[in-house]
Amino acid sequence: MTQQWNIEDAEALYGVKRWGAGYFSIGEHGNIQISPNHRKPDVYIDMNEVLAEMKAEGIEFPAVIRFHDILRSQVEIINETFRDTIETANYSGKYVGVYPIKVNQMREVVEEILDAGEAYNYGLEAGSKPELMAVLAYNENPEALTILNGYKDEDYLTLALLGRHIGRNMIVVVEKFSELEMLVRLSKKYKIDPMIGLRSKMMVRSTGKWSSSSGDRAKFGLSIAEIVNAMEYLKSHDMLHCAKLLHFHIGSQISDIRKVKEAVTEGARLYAKLVQMGVPLEYLDIGGGLGIDYDGSSTTTDSSRNYSTEEYVADIVYGVKQICDLEEVKHPNIVSESGRAITAHHSLVVTNVVGEVNPGATEFDFSAEEGEHVLVSNMRELVNGHDIHPQERYNDAAAYKQSAYEAFKLGILSIREMAKIDTIYWRVLTDIHHGLDSETRQIQELEELEDTLASQYLANMSIFQSAADTWAIGQLLPIVPLTRLHEKPEVRISIADITCDSDGKIGKYIEGNSISDNIPMHRLRKGESYPIGMFLTGAYQDVMGDMHNLFGRLTEVHIFSHDDEPGAFYIEEIVPGHSAEKVLETMQYNTDYMAKMVKKSIDKQIRKGALAPREGVRWSDFYESCLAGTTYLRDERK
Ligand SMILES: *Cc1c(COP(=O)(O)O)cnc(C)c1O
Repeated sequence: MTQQWNIEDAEALYGVKRWGAGYFSIGEHGNIQISPNHRKPDVYIDMNEVLAEMKAEGIEFPAVIRFHDILRSQVEIINETFRDTIETANYSGKYVGVYPIKVNQMREVVEEILDAGEAYNYGLEAGSKPELMAVLAYNENPEALTILNGYKDEDYLTLALLGRHIGRNMIVVVEKFSELEMLVRLSKKYKIDPMIGLRSKMMVRSTGKWSSSSGDRAKFGLSIAEIVNAMEYLKSHDMLHCAKLLHFHIGSQISDIRKVKEAVTEGARLYAKLVQMGVPLEYLDIGGGLGIDYDGSSTTTDSSRNYSTEEYVADIVYGVKQICDLEEVKHPNIVSESGRAITAHHSLVVTNVVGEVNPGATEFDFSAEEGEHVLVSNMRELVNGHDIHPQERYNDAAAYKQSAYEAFKLGILSIREMAKIDTIYWRVLTDIHHGLDSETRQIQELEELEDTLASQYLANMSIFQSAADTWAIGQLLPIVPLTRLHEKPEVRISIADITCDSDGKIGKYIEGNSISDNIPMHRLRKGESYPIGMFLTGAYQDVMGDMHNLFGRLTEVHIFSHDDEPGAFYIEEIVPGHSAEKVLETMQYNTDYMAKMVKKSIDKQIRKGALAPREGVRWSDFYESCLAGTTYLRDERK
């Protein structure tokens, strides 16, 4: 079973190290292993031990596993890379980064990032009123920045002024001229100076799925003319000294480093010109966009990036320095708003395969019978037709199947005969596929057999809840079996979820150096759970999910690594997922009323004598326990 297969082969197939950024790899026992602390690369957590502990705690699939050490590591890496580069470059400004909470607003995530970032005065960014309320409460560090983006109303701006009153470095980044007028009016009313940032609508266009954040038609930011007008306006209100920051953000997941360089050149030039005009700017905010290599290819495809974090930081620091030196302007403090890069790696969805859908897998006796229709015997002859050219054999099978279907509709073929033809058809296709050689594989129809024959593995999860971007914009996320990686995966499969929606499936997989429509995985074993992981879900996916089919949020398991613990980790917290009750209530159902109505119907049956009273109580208890229970499927295999 394991012949000619080892974990190097599994690594080549699933590319775990290529997208794992040093955090994920395949251990010698064929389990995924996690090395969550970048300062202690030799501390490994075996995924199978995590799954065992989850089971011992009674946690069912699907679940989100968060590795808090990975969050901390990413915060440390970005801050230290900027620090070190600034020192080497003799750059005279500081790095003061912020984490944009829209990328993952979970309180525990934000708290961990703030805690890990405290030593670096790492701050927060908000883009809406509720986010602003959260950062106002949580970012208490008086040295750190709070950057306020997004469209704003009076309440938003007043909350920002409240922040100034309680000593926070809250910078209101103006997206539209009208916001500036409102802000000036309110700051006079409340007698406090705001800290003002200006968002520039950049000319450089990023590429990829999020490129519309820049360019003339971008939804956000001020044109150069508007920026100059804004400065005049502030001057006329004697508030030019409040202008502190120039901001730009050309889009998320920038895959090509050249776009970063271009944006930095444009932004730094604009910064320098404004300073020369007498605007007392101190900060240049380069926004987010630091990419994640989701497919591990290190290229400029939408799901990758062709640069390292070191290269990104160096291009920014040296790029800003060069322009400011040329323009003879003091080096600004550099702000960045990386979200995806901080959080993507720290969480994954683990779930199990609850079933398989395979058109060719049904067993059915198709042996010859006296007087059977000639189409059945014709099709049966193809089973042993190894001498026939595969293309011809395929054409014949397809033609017989089509004729059989017509005959069935006309009532000529019996239901048993139709079942036989169907069974033989799939048998023949499988046999043709196995017999293909390098030449016949080139024939398009035959090449497509791989897809036609691939099974679907049903994963106990909702794509709409846990991986919204795979459905919405074709985002790639690595999907890998969590165990058995030392065994050869022998079947090609694609993953479908348990929602009643035919879009509820994953269409693209990372396979070796390419992207496939399906992927090899192991055969399911009776009575044995087959756990799979969907990785890099910590940015956006964790928090963008919707209520499609009312599945709701997953149970979460928060893990910390610890050298002294058995297995080098402990579960710090379990956050239960949404119960059926909870998701129904979000849709305005009153679940007490529902339970009462069901009980009333049960009681009616009892009164009629159709149900024994004891039995009736059991049924209504069962209904209530399901309301309190999970929305996902219970695992029958364990
Ligand atoms: C979304 C967003 C970010 C975060 O971008 P990432 O690519 O996730 O780092 C930063 N700044 C602004 C203004 C944003 O809208």
